[in-house]
Amino acid sequence: MTIEPLEEKRQKAQRYATEPERFRLEGIHLRMTSEHGVREITFQEGRWSCTCPFYADHHTCSHIMAAQQILNGIQFDLDR
Ligand SMILES: [Zn+2]
Repeated sequence: MTIEPLEEKRQKAQRYATEPERFRLEGIHLRMTSEHGVREITFQEGRWSCTCPFYADHHTCSHIMAAQQILNGIQFDLDR
C-alpha cells in the first residue's frame, strides 16, 4: 500500500517540527497591542527592535522579551 503524497508531507512536517535546530529565523515583523498602545516589533539582520519609548532608551523592552518567549525554540541568527 502506498502512502498518499500529502500524508507523506504531513509526516515529514511532524518530524521537522520536533527538530527546531533545523530552522533559523531571518526576519519577522510583529504588531502587538500593549497596555499603552500598538507596538511594532521587528527582527532583522540579527537585531530586535521595537517602536516603544522604552526600547529607544534601553535597546530592549517587555514587548521584545514577550515575542522571544512566544518564539522560543527557534534559532535566532544573532551572529551577523
Ligand atoms: Zn517595546
